[in-house]
Amino acid sequence: MARKTKRTAGTSGKGGSNAEYKAVIDDLVMGNRILYDQGVVDGYGHVSARDPRNPERFLLSRARAPGLVVASDIMEFGMDGEPIRADGRPIYSERFIHSEIYRARPDVGGVVHSHSPTVVPFTVTEVPLKPIRAAFFYPEVPLFDTRDVAGWTNLLISNRQLGRALAEKLGKNSVVLLRGHGNAVVGASVRMAVYRAVYTEANAKLLLQAKMLGGPINYLAPEEAAIMEANQTTQRPGHGSDRIWELLASEAIARTGRPKR
Ligand SMILES: [Zn+2]
Repeated sequence: MARKTKRTAGTSGKGGSNAEYKAVIDDLVMGNRILYDQGVVDGYGHVSARDPRNPERFLLSRARAPGLVVASDIMEFGMDGEPIRADGRPIYSERFIHSEIYRARPDVGGVVHSHSPTVVPFTVTEVPLKPIRAAFFYPEVPLFDTRDVAGWTNLLISNRQLGRALAEKLGKNSVVLLRGHGNAVVGASVRMAVYRAVYTEANAKLLLQAKMLGGPINYLAPEEAAIMEANQTTQRPGHGSDRIWELLASEAIARTGRPKR
């Protein structure tokens, strides 16, 4: 990683600085740890970041269990979903989730794909995943079905065509469900995407519990969600997702150790 950083030193006239790049790599490594520690990902699932030095590229680990990812695992990919420097290392077959979302959504800086366990039941039933706490579920949480575009498959988003169709289904929303599979969550940054992925799982748990109590559910109103989101998307030290990130990172370090550089 140090070699990569050095190679691009002084070439960041139009893009982000190397300090920004390094910070994104650190967030990406920690984001992998957090998602594993929080039970959002297991051996599968991945998180990526748009490259701050070049918005036409994104950063994603080589194919590896997220809980084990370190900085040297992070590779650079183009908007076609292919690595910029193929070095023989295995790569995730579902990287097209990331590439096609970055192509379709210039506002997105981070993407999480997971098989978040409490969310999966909402991908195979008629019960809509509606917001109790997750204000970012508005306007809606659409459901993507590989059968609609590709017939019988192994459900994986393993080519550009499927990635593009998934990004289309996501539209302007923050979360898209994948039938019988999982979900993809986006945010303006890696931190925001990770935060939302954790709270997508948490909201699914709350909704399941509310359903068990029975009766009509008094969901978060779109007006309330808009106020909450306006607060949440303004990054303020010690508040909102910043506070949560600090906590989740310290928990992940306590349980899984500090990632090696
Ligand atoms: Zn998957």
